[in-house]
Amino acid sequence: MPINSNRTINCLHFINGQFVESDNKRTFDNINPATEEVIGTVAEGGKKEVDYAVSAAKRALNGPWKNITLTERSKILRRIGDLIQERQDELARLESLDTGKPLSLAKKIDIPRAAYNFHFFADYIISITNEAYQQDDQAIHYAHRRPVGVVGIIKPWNLPLLLLTWKLAPCLGMGNTAVIKPAEWTPLTATALMEICKEAGVPDGVVNLVHGFGPNSAGAAIAEHPDIDAISFIGEPGTGAAIMKAASNSLKKLSYELGGKNPNIIFADSDLDEVIETTIKSSFINQGEVCLCGSRIYVERPAYEEFLEKFVKKTKELKIGDPFENGTDVGALVSKEHYERVNSYIDIAKQDGAEILTGGKRPDGLDKGYYLEPTIITGLDRNSRCVREEIFGPVVTVSPFDMEEEVIAQANDTHYGLSATIWTNNLRRAHRVAHQIEAGIIWVNTWFLRDLRTPFGGMKHSGIGRTGGMHSLDFYTELSNITIKL
Ligand code: NAD
Repeated sequence: MPINSNRTINCLHFINGQFVESDNKRTFDNINPATEEVIGTVAEGGKKEVDYAVSAAKRALNGPWKNITLTERSKILRRIGDLIQERQDELARLESLDTGKPLSLAKKIDIPRAAYNFHFFADYIISITNEAYQQDDQAIHYAHRRPVGVVGIIKPWNLPLLLLTWKLAPCLGMGNTAVIKPAEWTPLTATALMEICKEAGVPDGVVNLVHGFGPNSAGAAIAEHPDIDAISFIGEPGTGAAIMKAASNSLKKLSYELGGKNPNIIFADSDLDEVIETTIKSSFINQGEVCLCGSRIYVERPAYEEFLEKFVKKTKELKIGDPFENGTDVGALVSKEHYERVNSYIDIAKQDGAEILTGGKRPDGLDKGYYLEPTIITGLDRNSRCVREEIFGPVVTVSPFDMEEEVIAQANDTHYGLSATIWTNNLRRAHRVAHQIEAGIIWVNTWFLRDLRTPFGGMKHSGIGRTGGMHSLDFYTELSNITIKL
């Protein structure tokens, strides 16, 4: 077993139903970001391992997986969801160790949602209907769906199991096979999921996992592999562009969920206490390392001072520290590299003349681990890099506004278009503003509420395509129209 004890957790590739080392036996260290200690090693894969994995996935696609009935596939998906639930305590622990997120959050969000992704698609795939048309008395036309083929799934580190299962469940449900590359910083739960897939009865070769890095490594090998038919990618826009370039030689189908710099717009007529409670979450949950976090906060001027006072007070009450301790609200950032990157934005804010109302430094008494206090910044011009670029940490900017048109223009003044939140009790304004904000996901008087049937994804540089319900079905299948002359 690759995951074998509390002290050393070594991750191997999973290819054709077996856990295997790299051909050249190379590994890299996995670091616990909360302690900076090495917690195990990870097999470092590259082109060779991806080649093996793709061959296995191709064989399985045209072999055992092809002949399994839809009902059987649905049962396997359900079983995977059940096994995730059965192992939820262990999986939550692994997720927290790897990412630095509070254990309580992994238990409440990451792992239950990962199980639900499989349960949802287990039900969804057996309710699929297809288009059919009768053309007068000449012909009947109907659509026939088939799997796309071998799908490459390339993943980020912030919600490792939740996001992997969000892609893998529909991918398998629609009859495809997969070659997965988890983020190099968070290999643990993806490895455990391979054990679960095997136990649930997924035939060998249907799901394969290759650990490694991005450029010139396993990620790039997946992006350019001629026998991979589609890529489901979650990560940064720049990486998406590199993958698109590499994938263009074999014209792969692409689904992208990319970054965000999401506006959180608060009108003065909203219920401020409710706003603050949710804004604390939408700003700092998971250390702000969620693509949907509302990191640009705009408050209508009559409510600005009261909002700031209450928001700063509540933020100061958050408990930062050991992810495994009861009551911890904010854990450690995922890695040294990311910690330094997030901190560099605090320096930029200072250079740009910002006022830091709270945070902006390592918490007192936490000398080890990549900890940063939740940070609220005001006084920045809309052109500051802190307002324009995705920081992906516990850092938000707050600005006042006077006019509805002004805040819409500011909200849209970005390359990103992932999500937005609007707070108002004025129904007409809620619709009016929502229709003008350029984002794929818009919440009114709430945040993070999801129904897996709805379209999920971003516009502009925040993504390509949508997933969820029939949108996932469209990505993971190819359609043929069949015409029968009457
Ligand atoms: P990243 O783009 O740096 O890396 C993502 C994955 O791509 C990793 O597995 C990495 O190894 C791989 N990769 C890197 N370069 C590659 C290359 N040239 N070819 C192939 N693979 C390559 O992103 P990250 O830092 O891991 O994640 C953070 C980003 O993900 C943020 O921008 C965040 O907003 C975004 N994100 C988006 C969503 C969404 O649903 N829209 C969800 C979560 C995270």
